[in-house]
Amino acid sequence: MYKIEKENLEALFRKIAESQDLILPIKKAGQTNFGLWNEGEEADLDTLKTVKSGKDAFFPQSETLYTCVRDGKKLTVEPEELRSSPFVVFGMKACDVKGMEVLDKVFLADPIDTFYAARRDHGTIVAMACHEPEESCFCKVFGTDAADPAADVAVWMVEGTLYWKAISEKGQALTEAVKDLLTDADASDEAKVSAEKEAIHNIVEQLPYTHLSLEGWDGNATDEKFNSPVWETLYKPCLACGTCTFVCPTCQCYDIKDYDTGHGVKRYRCWDSCMYSDFTMMAHGNNRTSQMQRFRQRFMHKLVYFPANNNGMYSCVGCGRCVEKCPSSLNIVKVIKAFEKHGGEK
Ligand code: SF4
Ligand code: SF4
Repeated sequence: MYKIEKENLEALFRKIAESQDLILPIKKAGQTNFGLWNEGEEADLDTLKTVKSGKDAFFPQSETLYTCVRDGKKLTVEPEELRSSPFVVFGMKACDVKGMEVLDKVFLADPIDTFYAARRDHGTIVAMACHEPEESCFCKVFGTDAADPAADVAVWMVEGTLYWKAISEKGQALTEAVKDLLTDADASDEAKVSAEKEAIHNIVEQLPYTHLSLEGWDGNATDEKFNSPVWETLYKPCLACGTCTFVCPTCQCYDIKDYDTGHGVKRYRCWDSCMYSDFTMMAHGNNRTSQMQRFRQRFMHKLVYFPANNNGMYSCVGCGRCVEKCPSSLNIVKVIKAFEKHGGEK
């Protein structure tokens, strides 16, 4: 394990950014989100939850797929280049790293999403342990350890010192590249990190949703859950704003659209939301005709369909963003609890 003092982090960022893009949490207009770090930019490593997760670095909110250029009667198609240069995402939390596992299941399965795969190949994740998990967090429910993020490099911030541990080959390579700025950690440092982990675990144990039960939510409960009358009352406050899907580290639905440039067309994809009435609209109309059906789909997918198709892996990681951001105070915790209370039948 290595360490670096907090006041030297800017030098560390500068060193990384010399050779590759560095993406980390940056505070702008009162909100903290992952963005490209440039000299003079202030990293915000104190805010626990960025508004959106770091998934944008691998699956951007909007990206061009290809461009059609018209020149008289000649039409050429120019595919967008795949990511071919390395980059580092610094400061993702354990839940968001787990969210990448969910996205991998979707985008790296056949047929592979080449845009996503290229970014996964070239991206190195430096994940940060959650110094102080918040009330809305329930990552432990999904088996994630907030104190020990499973990324390429794991870091812990303890009393003004950042402790650095390489985990994967990519993490080793990044460590080698910045080693001049790191110093070896000794036994007393290891003890500080162990104490930090214990303190994090203690906080997690006391969080209100940590002991939420997922009993009954598995791939076999499809009909029982789908047909439950609970949805009819539960969905009612939903405004169909889509906020919950846009802040979610595991939501992966997108739309593909064309943009007329005046001398051709850009085909791009952008995040979409299953909460929207025109989601997956087809010539005959929409498969889900009511907001109740759309609301049900979001949670059935996360808690039933996804685990049914992915060896029990849920597509919620308990980051708690929907708990904090929904303007109608609806969220996945409320759904799980509603079924707990009514047994899904009454
Ligand atoms: S954030 Fe809340 S109101 Fe908006 S779509 Fe999601 S559940 Fe509905
Ligand atoms: S459903 Fe909510 S708590 Fe679960 S991963 Fe998405 S935003 Fe986080």
